[in-house]
Amino acid sequence: MPAENPSNSDLMEKIVSLCKRRGFIFQSSEIYGGLASTWDYGPLGAELKRNVKDAWWKAVVHNRDDMVGLDASILMHPKTWDASGHTKNFNDVLVDCKKCKNRFRVDHIKGVCPVCKSKDFTEGRAFNLMFKTHIGAVEDDKGLAYLRPETAQGIFVNFNNVMDATHRRLPFGIAQIGKSFRNEVTAGNFTFRMREFEQMEIEYFTTPEASDECYKKWIEERFAWYVNLGIRKDNLKIREHGNDELAHYAKGCSDIEYNFPFGWSELEGIANRTDFDLKQHAQFSGADLRFNDQLENKKFYPYVIEPSGGVDRGMLAFLVDAYHEEEVEGRQRVVLRFSKQLAPVKVAILPLLKKNDDLVILAKNIKKDLQKDLVCVYDDTAAIGKLYRRQDEIGTFFCVTVDVQSLEDRHVTVRDRDTMKQERISVDNLKKYIIEKLK
Ligand SMILES: [Zn+2]
Repeated sequence: MPAENPSNSDLMEKIVSLCKRRGFIFQSSEIYGGLASTWDYGPLGAELKRNVKDAWWKAVVHNRDDMVGLDASILMHPKTWDASGHTKNFNDVLVDCKKCKNRFRVDHIKGVCPVCKSKDFTEGRAFNLMFKTHIGAVEDDKGLAYLRPETAQGIFVNFNNVMDATHRRLPFGIAQIGKSFRNEVTAGNFTFRMREFEQMEIEYFTTPEASDECYKKWIEERFAWYVNLGIRKDNLKIREHGNDELAHYAKGCSDIEYNFPFGWSELEGIANRTDFDLKQHAQFSGADLRFNDQLENKKFYPYVIEPSGGVDRGMLAFLVDAYHEEEVEGRQRVVLRFSKQLAPVKVAILPLLKKNDDLVILAKNIKKDLQKDLVCVYDDTAAIGKLYRRQDEIGTFFCVTVDVQSLEDRHVTVRDRDTMKQERISVDNLKKYIIEKLK
């Protein structure tokens, strides 16, 4: 990881502070002192997360002809993880500093203790990253189970079920969003590396011959998804893995990386996993997981392209990329320039006089009408300048102010987040006007 320059760590601090202040992200179990590397999404974070997942599902399932969705359980038969290689190989190598007794991942420290600078370490030991739990009333090895470390295996073990239920031909894919768990030894960088996190994964099945082409297409599609949702192209890059980084069965792997304040880091990986996973599960389960091509009258193991993204990492990238500071008439303005799809709140309704009953009734009726189709908030707890700044800071697209004049002419002032231009719009056309602008 490259050294942080002060302005970058400053930026990260500002974002973390905004996230807490405005209700995007809270430290988990904060009143008990917090729990390392776990975070909670507040009211706005929950909205943003839904929007990110909805945008993904729409792009990779609903808008395509060759994809279906799945929602598999977190707990799976423990043999799953023998077949996938996780019980044996999903390890970090750990060392202890003999001087200060701190424990580190050997690949994170380059031979020098980051705490006390000592170079005297214990021998490396393998540490499995899967969280263990027990099923049933007795805590013995028979009931041993794991919290899944990835959602992908839930797709592979359901390959036959989905094929039988949907009668698909190749190429086709299965998409899934869900929680995964990894007992990371050194976590950190806010929500970038968490012990409990959410994944958006696709397993796309194709013939071995077409797999290279599919792999390239998915890299392009997934890159474009982030750009379409507002991330600046300059802040994204594709990094192809070298041969030394590739798993023995993989034919290719590329990461989509984002230029975070703490350095370029992975948002999503796209891999050509060949026929490794289905073959492994066939071998360990005894089930026939070959694709039955009735037209060609042959059975074979399809190749798999796996685009695997992190919901939380994506959210963090969208937050960082949306963050802007600018000077407006001598005052600093912080604005989150979320895309139309991702903005957690689309419209804020702001009555100028909270003691005028008629005005309050009109403002509340406007909200009632708009909120059937748009996420809205109502705020009358400060002066208008402050209310605008609050909404800018959370990326609200439009502010609608209701004033005394509105009672006479049934027009309200609509302010655009990005241009800050204000327009008087008739209450009767308001919803149509806003929905048109958000298209
Ligand atoms: Zn040390």
